[in-house]
Amino acid sequence: MNMAETENLVAAGLRGELREREPMARHVSWRAGGAAERAYVPADLGDIAAFLRTLPGTEPIHFVGLGSNLLVRDGGLRGTVVLTHRALRGIRIERDGGALHAEAGVASPKVARFAATHDLSGAEFLAGIPGTLGGALAMNAGCFGSETWEVIAEVSTVDRRGEIHRRTPGEYEIGYRHVRLKAEDGSRKAEEWFVAARLRLVPGDKKESLNKIKQLLNKRLATQPLDEPNAGSVFRNPEGDYAARLIEACGLKGHAIGGAQISAKHANFIVNPGGARAGDIEALIELAERRVKEKFGIALEREVRIVGDA
Ligand SMILES: Cc1cc2nc3c(=O)[nH]c(=O)nc-3n(C[C@H](O)[C@H](O)[C@H](O)COP(=O)(O)OP(=O)(O)OC[C@H]3O[C@@H](n4cnc5c(N)ncnc54)[C@H](O)[C@@H]3O)c2cc1C
Repeated sequence: MNMAETENLVAAGLRGELREREPMARHVSWRAGGAAERAYVPADLGDIAAFLRTLPGTEPIHFVGLGSNLLVRDGGLRGTVVLTHRALRGIRIERDGGALHAEAGVASPKVARFAATHDLSGAEFLAGIPGTLGGALAMNAGCFGSETWEVIAEVSTVDRRGEIHRRTPGEYEIGYRHVRLKAEDGSRKAEEWFVAARLRLVPGDKKESLNKIKQLLNKRLATQPLDEPNAGSVFRNPEGDYAARLIEACGLKGHAIGGAQISAKHANFIVNPGGARAGDIEALIELAERRVKEKFGIALEREVRIVGDA
């Protein structure tokens, strides 16, 4: 996007805030990495739709929630980042009482607590996933035997033209940390982003649900390095095994490159105790992949998303 096109945006009466060269370290939980060419902090859903309509058709668009599964390489990210967390914050129980409606920028732990305090059960697991609901939908995030899409009745998405679509889970290909809209012609990749979801939950008991959440969080505190910036599990668990076990067996627990370190507490976590570059984190990821492949012949698959230029 050139300067004139950026000025057109300002002239279009948008209510959000457009920032140039926005350091993405501020928006990702690893607290490392490069800048986005532009970042838009929208005012609300209407503003996102209007903003998307003003972008040239060739502009790369990246929706970012809380950046808890994301790394932007040190060379930065071309295109426009849309930061959903401050804009899409609506959450309510629907009139029939069995469904919860939340916008994509709401933090997943908030969804878990909101459901629990309204005597709805089934969303407790979201308490341990420190991203937005939009990120949980994009990743099919899950833990303790539950996954996001198991409780989804319907989602709303927005496309590049600013049009809103209501979609059912049947319209998506859904798997372990994998979600993709089935393209109508079987090949074309549709560009849509999540803006809201309706969760179908079951009647529960507030006290029991809050207790379950407490237990779940205590378990995480005991096993995960939550006091240092990280992005959760770096790799998916291979069928029938654990990425952490494989990395540890390669002697990499606690191994550091530059400012980044494979956690001494949980080998599938990479932490940034301070001063890590995205390049340090990616070098550790590549090292773990190489060593596990050499020792076990297993190709680890990344769960974290890495974008941008080195
Ligand atoms: C301490 C810790 C523990 C974690 N534990 C778990 C766990 O138990 N289980 C688990 O599954 N994950 C876990 N994670 C990873 C992460 O929290 C989840 O993947 C989360 O759902 C990501 O949400 P986010 O808003 O941070 O997404 P981001 O990191 O901002 O984005 C992740 C991806 O989703 C896309 N995206 C974001 N918002 C939207 C949207 N509205 N529409 C379309 N695409 C979008 C982004 O473009 C990007 O590709 C953990 C992370 C941390 C830091």
